[in-house]
Amino acid sequence: MGATILDGKKVSQLVKEKVKKEVRELLEGGATPPGLAVALVGEDPASKIYVRKKGEACEEAGITSHQYNLPDTVTQEELLSLVRDLNGREDVNGILVQLPLPSHVDSKTVLEVVDPLKDVDGFHPYNVGKLVANDVNLLPCTPSGIMEILDHYRIPIEGADAVIIGRSDIVGKPMAIMLMHRHATITVCHSRTRNLAQVAAGADILVAALGKARLVTAEMVKEGAVVIDVGMNRVEGKLTGDVDFEAVSEKASHITPVPGGVGPMTVAMLLKNTLTAYRKQTGR
Ligand code: NAP
Repeated sequence: MGATILDGKKVSQLVKEKVKKEVRELLEGGATPPGLAVALVGEDPASKIYVRKKGEACEEAGITSHQYNLPDTVTQEELLSLVRDLNGREDVNGILVQLPLPSHVDSKTVLEVVDPLKDVDGFHPYNVGKLVANDVNLLPCTPSGIMEILDHYRIPIEGADAVIIGRSDIVGKPMAIMLMHRHATITVCHSRTRNLAQVAAGADILVAALGKARLVTAEMVKEGAVVIDVGMNRVEGKLTGDVDFEAVSEKASHITPVPGGVGPMTVAMLLKNTLTAYRKQTGR
């Protein structure tokens, strides 16, 4: 029997509509609109698409989008100066510096200068610490979007064996912590993991966030597992996940497709974070 498709497009739409409704209510109450500033450095085509999509989603939700396109010759000090300026602006409630940055700019330094209350990506060490301490401020968008999907489909998390393949700061690590806080038992795998297939096959919830097209095969998945595919790989120009969707969906109970699974959630959670940041800053 085929798995139930976890429809991220649908869930993201629900999140975006809720944000839009809340923003409309704020505006009707006389408030100024929330604002999100996005800084893009250089001409990376994928980054340009992401930034454009984020801007469009903001406008759709009633959030003002401020976009800054900087040449890849920008100096670190110039970028830091823009971020400091945005930190001080009342009409900017969220700040996002699109990654990756050119190699002459130290991403860590830039991300640390973002005001933690405006850090809608949830990458600032303050917010990472808050997440680890389970005292949440702003959460990273991709893993929090995955939690939203799991909750929408009422996937039981408490007591589940969750295996996360990937330990990046933006996906794998925060994902593991969020699932742990919801009382799953966590295993985090990475490139040095021995017997990856065997470990993955023990999972009730399997999150694939490794960035290797279709590496997760049916043999690595337990019958009835919930499979979340974070991967976004280009194979012959086609967006492809980390999971062998056709074979795995015959075995899993639930699975996210690529595209239409985790991807759309990331932008929706960015809007949600911008509204959260706005409320914290304005007390509204
Ligand atoms: P990343 O920083 O490259 O991290 C990949 C992780 O996977 C690393 O921890 C790496 O291990 C591990 N890994 C790589 N090959 C492996 C293998 N053969 N076996 C076991 N583990 C392996 O990637 P990321 O930023 O987390 O992104 C992961 C994927 O998700 C990418 O395809 C990315 O495009 C996608 N993504 C999607 C969204 C979305 O909105 N849908 C958002 C972010 C990322 P080591 O630590 O040992 O190197």
